[in-house]
Amino acid sequence: MDREAVPFDQLLRDETRQYLLRGMLWLSSASLVLLWVTLLSLLFSPHLELDFVRVMALVLPFSLLCLAFIGLYFFRFRHSGFHNWVYGHLLAMVVGWLVVMWMLSHGGASMLTAVETLCDILMLLMAIALFPSLRLTIAAVFPLLLLSAYFRFELMPESWLFNLVRTFCLAVLLLSGREIIYGWFRKAVRRDAEKRKLLKHFRKMALVDGLTGLSNRRHFDDILEQEIRAASRTGHSLCLILLDIDFFKRLNDSLGHQAGDDCLRRIGKLLGSTSRRPRDLAARYGGEEFAILLPETSLAGAEEVATKIARLLTQAAIPHPDSDVGSAITVSQGLVKWQAGMEAVPLLAAADEALYEAKQRGRNQFRVASISA
Ligand code: GH3
Ligand code: MG
Ligand code: MG
Repeated sequence: MDREAVPFDQLLRDETRQYLLRGMLWLSSASLVLLWVTLLSLLFSPHLELDFVRVMALVLPFSLLCLAFIGLYFFRFRHSGFHNWVYGHLLAMVVGWLVVMWMLSHGGASMLTAVETLCDILMLLMAIALFPSLRLTIAAVFPLLLLSAYFRFELMPESWLFNLVRTFCLAVLLLSGREIIYGWFRKAVRRDAEKRKLLKHFRKMALVDGLTGLSNRRHFDDILEQEIRAASRTGHSLCLILLDIDFFKRLNDSLGHQAGDDCLRRIGKLLGSTSRRPRDLAARYGGEEFAILLPETSLAGAEEVATKIARLLTQAAIPHPDSDVGSAITVSQGLVKWQAGMEAVPLLAAADEALYEAKQRGRNQFRVASISA
């Protein structure tokens, strides 16, 4: 349930890392395609002045780097999440591309236009793949922007002013465009965080009793069915305690409804602390009735819990000015041990019968249902 209520900042961090991971997958795959399409098209270029051995010495390790990341993504990252060395991969990609383009740019004047176009395509790829992180976007996109400006300057040195203005406009466009998209990204994450918070709230409302903070009857009934199925399967022992406050109506009448509510809260807290095993479940079953489910617990264990509840209540000494039992709040309890083949309804009825017997015998005690005696 906690997973649902992730605070906005943490969710934004998680979503950013997830996006970056996928962005890097996309970048690696697109780089691989771009690299080989460029190389193959160069093979058929009539103006080729490239040292192919040197180019391949760079392109092959670069391709392996991309392939390694794609493989790692599918075999590891997808399941285990983001690792910091994704940053290392990005650095290697940016440096790899800068070197590849630098080498290609020495293949003759006609190559410069192709390399400049390649540079612009890469710039867009990186801006889209990395946009949730401003630092990464700047670190990856700006070297490419400068390289593209340099190639244009080499191609058309006479239009240096136009080149300068173009580079500046591109930088502003990339940053402002990124800002707009990132605004939508944050908005989507914020909505997701709110949705998760609401979901947690509704779940809590559906399962938890508002006054005591214990499970409510609906939740208890569901878990009881589940535990009966588990006990039928495993043959483990399962016990149930139904608990009712003695002379509670008189407490309301003498001290007021507010004092009655306070008493219910205190008893709720006490029962919550008594059922301590992970699968134990304490619930408010009705107005001033509580139920405790004790899976994998013997009848002797359940009797121990009932005794402990009575002892803690004596220690808590919640005042009751009009009880026939004493000056403090007491409870009567009915215990039952589940028998093979027993459904939830007869189990609860047996516990209720034992509780009734405890009331009949003078209250402030527990009785064990006769079926399990
Ligand atoms: P007994 O010892 O036989 O159990 O007597 P009792 O007075 O406890 O039994 P009864 O069932 O007659 O009374 C239960 C009372 O609990 C009646 C109702 O007003 C009160 N009650 C039920 N729910 C709440 C609640 O949420 N807050 C408060 N303050 N009182 C409640
Ligand atoms: Mg009652
Ligand atoms: Mg009562």
